[in-house]
Amino acid sequence: MQKRDTLYINGKWVPASGRNTIDVINASTEEVMASIPDGDENDANAAVAAARAAFDAWSTTPPAKRGEYLRKIQEGLKARSEELAKIITGEVGMPLKLSAMIQVGSPVANFGIYAKLANAFQWQEVTGNSLVVREPVGVAVCITPWNYPLHQIAAKVAAALAAGCTVVLKPSEVAPLNAFVLAEVIDSVGLPPGVFNLVTGTGPVIGEALVRHPDVDMISFTGSTRAGKRISEVASASVKRVALELGGKSASVILDDADFAAAVKGTINACFLNSGQTCSAHTRMLVPESRYEEVAKLAVEAAKGFTVGDPFGGAARLGPLISDAQRERVRNYIRKGMEEGAELLCGGPDAPEGLPKGYYVKPTIFGRVKPDSTIAQEEIFGPVLSIITYRDEDEAAKIANGTLYGLSGAVWAGSDERAMKMARRMRTGQVEINGGQFNLGAPFGGYKQSGRGREMGAYGLEEFLEYKSLQFRPDAAALKEDAAG
Ligand code: NAD
Repeated sequence: MQKRDTLYINGKWVPASGRNTIDVINASTEEVMASIPDGDENDANAAVAAARAAFDAWSTTPPAKRGEYLRKIQEGLKARSEELAKIITGEVGMPLKLSAMIQVGSPVANFGIYAKLANAFQWQEVTGNSLVVREPVGVAVCITPWNYPLHQIAAKVAAALAAGCTVVLKPSEVAPLNAFVLAEVIDSVGLPPGVFNLVTGTGPVIGEALVRHPDVDMISFTGSTRAGKRISEVASASVKRVALELGGKSASVILDDADFAAAVKGTINACFLNSGQTCSAHTRMLVPESRYEEVAKLAVEAAKGFTVGDPFGGAARLGPLISDAQRERVRNYIRKGMEEGAELLCGGPDAPEGLPKGYYVKPTIFGRVKPDSTIAQEEIFGPVLSIITYRDEDEAAKIANGTLYGLSGAVWAGSDERAMKMARRMRTGQVEINGGQFNLGAPFGGYKQSGRGREMGAYGLEEFLEYKSLQFRPDAAALKEDAAG
């Protein structure tokens, strides 16, 4: 068992002021795999003070130099890829091969993307008699969830550092070990003390202490809509900038001329990835009423390919859910779906056979789900798909838009042009057209209660920047030089 008993503050590993510890549980063995400090308000204060003190120098470090540090962090993470994949598979339960590819591959790529962007970004532009310069917002607190823990950390931390912000990271207390590895990598590349700080603990204690702190300029949060609302409320007292990446209930709309076999398979893949613990999971499959029977058969067939089992074993496509609490939550939703009269096509609330340990849930598909029922409205965060039928495209668009969320989605049609028409009607931050792939350079974020702001690529960098307008007399040299250069 690993014991992490220090926090990374001001370039040093220091004991936490909070005396308690939090156990980290292995999702497939249910055993304690490590413990971490349960930090308190003093730890939050120390980390913010360090970040504040480091801000002036870091914010004026040339972007190209900041990019060099990011490149070194990318290399450091890459060198520890195998170890990180094992850690995250232990914490989260995603099968090892997928962890290596997604949970580690994506953050490694993201640090590289921001290393490049630090150089390529247009840091200033002329408009009329003004030079508009982009400056870092200040001390950024990054609060992250457990489902893609290092990916969500990298999306924030790499962008914030590229922007010139200093950072306090508070990772999920459920899957925090990967963040310690990142801090070790950052330490090893010699980032100036205080530019990056890591604290751990629970949301209501150390999380809220950071959100309240008067010296923090911005909160970048990914997690539940519930916590996002609370954070907005607390941060509003000091008018901090708040970026929120929250929950989802995304629709995959299959139009009548689509390739149904590909569309059903693609939707189920996007629903069950990471055992459904994906904020942008396509959890509602919208299909023409007249094609329901055909879709139901295809869906059950596709679900058979999702073998559940040991994420370290090599054969399983679905590992366990992250925790006992999450498993119970998901099983209760499955029971609720049955009570509400949806057709249970496969799966169900009982434990899968032959897996006495680990938080496993059977991949479950419901048919003829009513659009306003609980399982079609609430984020389940488990391997549960709802098939909903529609009569015409207007009704499909209405159902797709008929939840509190708007994070992701998909359209499948006989042509991209037709799919695009439906995609434009959808009130959501991303739409995959006929199986289009996730793009780390495209803006990611939500409409409605899925959040505020965007991450990834240049859009994610801009989240951490202010605008400053410098007004000149029309003949000023600064305007000409910039326009020329
Ligand atoms: P959570 O909201 O419980 O916790 C997320 C983080 O916030 C954790 O670090 C937690 O300690 C902290 N936190 C909780 N309450 C807080 C408070 N009052 N003040 C400050 N910090 C607080 O979410 P989770 O269970 O870790 O993650 C699952 C949720 O995250 C799902 O709802 C999912 O949809 C969402 N999510 C969204 C995205 C996205 O990009 N939109 C990505 C992944 C996950």
